[in-house]
Amino acid sequence: MRLSERVKTYRITVLPGDGIGPEVIAEGVKVLRAVEQGLDGARFELREFSVGAGEYLRSGNPMPPAAFEACKQDDAVLLGAMGLPDVRWPGGTEIAPQLDLREQLELYCGLRPIRLYHANDTPLKKYGAGEIDFAIVRENTEGLFWSRKRSFSAEAAEVIDSLRISREGSERVIRAAFREASRRRGLLTLVDKSNVLPSMVFFRRIFDEIAEEFPGVCTRRIYVDAASLYLVERPQSFDVIVTENLFGDILSDLAAALVGGMGMAPSGDIGDRHAVFQPSHGSAPDIAGRGIANPTATILSVAMMLEWLGIAEGAARIRKAVETVFADPHLRTPDLGGALSTTELGDRIARAAAG
Ligand code: ATP
Repeated sequence: MRLSERVKTYRITVLPGDGIGPEVIAEGVKVLRAVEQGLDGARFELREFSVGAGEYLRSGNPMPPAAFEACKQDDAVLLGAMGLPDVRWPGGTEIAPQLDLREQLELYCGLRPIRLYHANDTPLKKYGAGEIDFAIVRENTEGLFWSRKRSFSAEAAEVIDSLRISREGSERVIRAAFREASRRRGLLTLVDKSNVLPSMVFFRRIFDEIAEEFPGVCTRRIYVDAASLYLVERPQSFDVIVTENLFGDILSDLAAALVGGMGMAPSGDIGDRHAVFQPSHGSAPDIAGRGIANPTATILSVAMMLEWLGIAEGAARIRKAVETVFADPHLRTPDLGGALSTTELGDRIARAAAG
């Protein structure tokens, strides 16, 4: 068989976006290219597009049609961050086309793995590398984000946001969470507020029904307020969490803090046909342009992308490279008390990933 016959080319749409987005994406691409050299069967063709608040200021559209088409056509999307606090829609909300992408491409499963790579990097000092290791599955397309596009008049005396829980939307994300738990340690925790909200009683009922399809997975059910407590008190007791959109949004940041902050938290917005991989953090305008952003969340998001594309060997090499570099507590960016620049940390991880 000739080489060209067994090499598959994957097309990736790259959206650097705003703030630190381009800085961390450059390191993610660097690591992807380093891994590619050692992979026999995979090549990556990257197409880059300008999107986000900066693009909105330039052209009036934060997600130009060519970029959106590429997201639909290509095998996967790698995104930096979109949105800037001072650039807003006339209604006052931030420019965040990543939320539109989730809805339009039906990326219902927001998968956010949380893993501690070194004991020094957690504020919970008794835990060591690997002891905090769980994943949040956040419903990405409805919940309390459902009414985000509504506007209200200047004279409004009250504004009500609706929390939508549909059977179809819940079934698909809960099944995805059960599958994730089956791949991991087999424990799935439902986080809801079913002691107060009827929509959450409905969500829990659907969870209970679907649990019967996965007898190999142990389940537990806790309220979101208790979940916040347990995540700090005993994070090692979690394997996979499934929850509503806004709860997932909030708990993801709390969980990121347990393992070193936003710079350590990768994510994938995954549907049945498309997927977008991006760090869990935003554009971090407070540190943008200074070369100090931690690129690890983006690099780990590249690993998630490779896994989703079926290139498990590449994903494993990236994770191993992060483990190797983080084993030395001096090799850190300033968010974790170190002195390395974004590029220097990216170089170290890329070298380790190249083997
Ligand atoms: P969004 O709502 O768009 O997710 P946010 O308002 O939650 O964004 P972030 O942009 O994620 O805010 O930033 C939150 C804090 O974390 C800021 O202080 C920022 O500097 C820090 N931060 C975020 N990402 C990184 C990173 N990659 N490296 C270092 N610090 C980061």
